[in-house]
Amino acid sequence: MSFQNPVFIPGPTNIPESLRKACDMPTIDHRSPLFGQILQPAREGVRAVLKSDQAEIFIFPSTGTGGWETALTNTLSAGDRVLAARNGMFSHRWIDMCQRHGLEVEVVQTPWGEGIPADRYEEILSADKEHRIKAVLATHNETATGVRSGIAAVRRALDNAGHPALLFVDGVSSIGSMDFRFDEWGVDVAVTGSQKGFMLPAGLAIVGFSAKAIEATRTGTLPRTFFDVHDMSKGYANNAYPYTPAVGLMNGLNEACKMLLSEGLETVFARHYRIAEGVRAAVKAWGLKLCAVSPDVYSDTVSAIRTPEGFNATDIVGHAASKYGVAFGVGLGEVAGKVFRIGHLGSLTDVMTLSGIATAEMCMADLGLNVKLGSGVAAAQEYYRSHTTTSVLKAA
Ligand SMILES: *Cc1c(COP(=O)(O)O)cnc(C)c1O
Repeated sequence: MSFQNPVFIPGPTNIPESLRKACDMPTIDHRSPLFGQILQPAREGVRAVLKSDQAEIFIFPSTGTGGWETALTNTLSAGDRVLAARNGMFSHRWIDMCQRHGLEVEVVQTPWGEGIPADRYEEILSADKEHRIKAVLATHNETATGVRSGIAAVRRALDNAGHPALLFVDGVSSIGSMDFRFDEWGVDVAVTGSQKGFMLPAGLAIVGFSAKAIEATRTGTLPRTFFDVHDMSKGYANNAYPYTPAVGLMNGLNEACKMLLSEGLETVFARHYRIAEGVRAAVKAWGLKLCAVSPDVYSDTVSAIRTPEGFNATDIVGHAASKYGVAFGVGLGEVAGKVFRIGHLGSLTDVMTLSGIATAEMCMADLGLNVKLGSGVAAAQEYYRSHTTTSVLKAA
């Protein structure tokens, strides 16, 4: 591997220099007033990035997975039913976590490459007259397949069914990169981590709770200690923490939010769309297909690219690492060996992206795939030359 090359994995993402510096801090006493000056603006910043006026934000020294556990353990009780679609490795792992906590999961098996079938959700919720389902899980962006699901559609499914279940959204690979509307979509718990859209090292679970989710903490009886949001709340009221916070990362988070908000969230989303469109133009020029089945589910943060039958896609990733010092993502679970992934979220420019596309081309040619050198690069160049972020914003 090379420390000079950017990474093209869908998290952890490339860290802008200013954020690396923000994380690199002398030790402060987290029981001194100085800590509140980092904690509270970071929470405010996250709330704004979630497009929420009222979400209560919790920041744990953990990762996105800890955020899942925070959502479940604070609000639910053993034996509770939850509804979830399984359409990739991350939704699969969240379901697995539910089951390990003794929850009963109604799994909607969904082909990998498709989004959450909101109509199926609506049927199941409408049939649940006794309201036994306590929470609906939605993975906004399935990082394993490069598929974005419609959270507004999931909210409509709940509303059309007149169902009171909580809506939990995994936004680990979408928040801060793709449009996310906590209040408008009626999200009850949103989960993310520091190492994707926030462009920081891994180490923070970042979670937003609605008032309704906070209310559910009073009845949920699953055991929680480290991830207890009430212990956190009590701490926050005194600018403190129930244990030792990851101060440097939180300082980085504060700066990351400032960066995203000063660029403007809509501009950030348009930039991700534009970078992604360049990658998609390259994939088309290679004569390859995305795992995502149709443009309405294309992810703007990661592309999972199918390779021809009989070819092991994982070889591209191994070869890129050993020969060129560049990281791509492997296929996971059901699509292992069938896809390789180009992560294109966070701090990336046209020029960086073109280098990733060029590297993928070299690897595919080296490994005997029928891909013409320069074909994908040229397609992306054409797209980037003729589309600025402003033009994409205007068109949207
Ligand atoms: C990365 C990711 C996770 C897991 O997050 P960790 O920070 O690795 O625990 C969960 N869900 C999605 C959609 C992800 O992309």
